[in-house]
Amino acid sequence: MTYVFDFADGGMHMKDLLGGKGANLAEMTRLGLPVPPGFTITTEACRAYLKLGELPEGLLREVGEHLLRVEQTMGRRLGDPADPLLLSVRSGGKFSMPGMMETILDVGLNDITVTGLAATSGDDRFAWDCYRRLISMYGATVEGVPRDLFERALAAHRRAAGVRTDPELDPAALRALVEEYKQIFQDHTGEPFPQDPATQLKGAILAVLRSWNTERARVYRRAEHIPDDLGTAVNIMAMVYGNRGPRSGTGVAFTRDPATGARGRYGDYLPNAQGEDVVSGSRDTLPLQELAHLDPPSFDQLTAAMRVLEQRYRDLCDIEFTIEEGRLWMLQTRVGKRTAAAAFTIAGQLVDEGVIDLDEALRRVDGAKLAQLMFPRFDLTGDPEPIVTGVAAAPGASCGRAVFDSRRATEASEPVILIRRETNPDDLPGMLAARGILTSRGGKTSHAAVVARGMGRTCVCGTAIEIDDERPQFRAVDVTVREGDLISIDGTTGKVYLGELPVRPSPVVQYFEGERDAGSGPLVAAVHRLVAHADAVRRLGVYANADTPEDAARARRFGAAGIGLCRTEHMFLGERRALVERLILAEGAQEVQEALVGDVRELHLVRADAERVLAGVPGIPRIPIGTMIEVPRAALTAGDIAGPAEFFSFGTNDLTQMAWGFSRDDVEGSIFPAYLRLGVIDASPFETIDRRGVGRLVSIAVKEGRQARPDLRIGVCGEHGGDPDSVRFFHEAGLDYVSCSPFRVPVARLEAGRAAL
Ligand code: ADP
Ligand code: MG
Repeated sequence: MTYVFDFADGGMHMKDLLGGKGANLAEMTRLGLPVPPGFTITTEACRAYLKLGELPEGLLREVGEHLLRVEQTMGRRLGDPADPLLLSVRSGGKFSMPGMMETILDVGLNDITVTGLAATSGDDRFAWDCYRRLISMYGATVEGVPRDLFERALAAHRRAAGVRTDPELDPAALRALVEEYKQIFQDHTGEPFPQDPATQLKGAILAVLRSWNTERARVYRRAEHIPDDLGTAVNIMAMVYGNRGPRSGTGVAFTRDPATGARGRYGDYLPNAQGEDVVSGSRDTLPLQELAHLDPPSFDQLTAAMRVLEQRYRDLCDIEFTIEEGRLWMLQTRVGKRTAAAAFTIAGQLVDEGVIDLDEALRRVDGAKLAQLMFPRFDLTGDPEPIVTGVAAAPGASCGRAVFDSRRATEASEPVILIRRETNPDDLPGMLAARGILTSRGGKTSHAAVVARGMGRTCVCGTAIEIDDERPQFRAVDVTVREGDLISIDGTTGKVYLGELPVRPSPVVQYFEGERDAGSGPLVAAVHRLVAHADAVRRLGVYANADTPEDAARARRFGAAGIGLCRTEHMFLGERRALVERLILAEGAQEVQEALVGDVRELHLVRADAERVLAGVPGIPRIPIGTMIEVPRAALTAGDIAGPAEFFSFGTNDLTQMAWGFSRDDVEGSIFPAYLRLGVIDASPFETIDRRGVGRLVSIAVKEGRQARPDLRIGVCGEHGGDPDSVRFFHEAGLDYVSCSPFRVPVARLEAGRAAL
């Protein structure tokens, strides 16, 4: 069994085995980009470890063989007192889970090698900085020492030295800090910090493997629908040092703007820093463009690497890089997460650039993203004055009550905005529960920003508000916002307002409404083009549920082919009654539907009735007569029912209640939220069709109904008709059309097109 792959032997298509990070490090190595040498322990090894509870046989021997090659390439040995090789040990599963699992840097330092590193680099400060980082990262991830303890000791040294940032601490302070960290480690674990580099390496590997199953990683996977049994790979590579002084640094870059999709190079750079310093938001970063002035050759080389990566991945890439004394190193790349607006805009641009065709562009967007673009925006007429402006990190317009910790957010019964200095993976439950996230620190690549974009939450970062240490409140210039106060945050502009702002339709909705001032920006143009392409390729018809003239008109503007469901029961009330009677008597509907049928004999009776009525109306066009399929028995006897029925329309709401044996009202507020949290179900079966159960009833009815009557027309009405995942299922099940609320029509058109690709 091979459990370890050298970077030179992998590639971008090996994500299942090497994880995303490992596969992409291998790809960059093959492309000739400057990647520090290293190797990947496969996800298969992780799965074996999770099953056995110990490292699989032979794994450490393979690691040793590959390590030898890294030592040869680097001309340094792990544990060499004179010139030590240091390693990073990094997690990375098939799907990116930013910040959810562990990474340990600077493995290989101890009381002796630290002096070797100081001597070869000629820089004491740097060597002790690496050592203190190792002890805290190793302590926290391998032994579970609370991170706070280390953070507090660090902050105390900053205060004592009268400095604001870590790089300003002098070598003596860092040295003292290392001693304190070692003491913290020993107090907490009862053992001294391990001095043997091989012990450190093994401990780090185990910690990364275990990090697959931490609570926060599980919560994230559930939210993102990532299976629990994939396991993580472990990437082990030579360290390069962004914390060696002012000519070094570390950064994150995007080949296009992940918030809007605009062309250009975006990112954050932090001089004299290592690893997590950038994403943690603990220090203020510089915009990437600054690097062009600080270090023009490295900036040019980075720009060239970005072009190579975009060409290879044919998409927006995000990149982690480090510069060591003017030398660029690539540490990670992947096809970057982006907002819904950026997804459409970039797909459109790539078609224009001739990089992808329209089919591919359509695969890269989806109905859920289009639905997000149809959410309302703040109505700024009257020029409300923002209390503060920060970085527009994840778009959206969200109002809610201010809360200052994750637990309060999860407990709140009303919409909330979660306010933090910066977020870390422990805030995830609160971020999921909140409408929006507001932080005082960090930029577009901070943890808060990345996670919020991935989850579709609004986020404003780096607002420089002063969050009180003692009480749940913050100050922004001249206002104080307390827990429970209503605030509105705009993730498109970065502005924060007091109170609850009114909202207006989004530009995409204005476009569908045919309003002239919808604008002709790249986003609207891309939506127009991709929905039109979906129309050209889809087989599924899209109709609307409408029973008022306004709804019918909107449905038509939004592209519905007609009305798929008109609830006549609403019509026999009030002044409508006379109109409806006249309509039925004089003109007739196109299709007549008759309800809640369970046996074919019911339908025979009703059909006879309907035919008698219709026969009595002179000059009426021929009207097909069919039935709703809403009870399981009807689906299971569809072959019989198709005899007298010319069409079926699935009422999937009732079908779901009856198939599951519960009433919607009884479960939605109580049982389902708990089931979702526990991972018993992935989505409410009232939102997304339950393929294995209710979906099977639909499939049986389609198959047996069509066997009995090949030209049977089959559709679905109800909320599932506008749900992206369900639309895909209805396409696959062979339905003729879906019918949904007018606002969902564009979503269903797009998703029906994607299903047909
Ligand atoms: P995550 O998956 O949370 O992004 P990573 O494994 O990418 O974690 O590690 C976090 C950071 O550690 C990277 O962004 C990079 O800055 C730093 N890092 C990782 N490996 C190395 C290395 N070999 N040399 C220097 N820095 C490294
Ligand atoms: Mg990373």
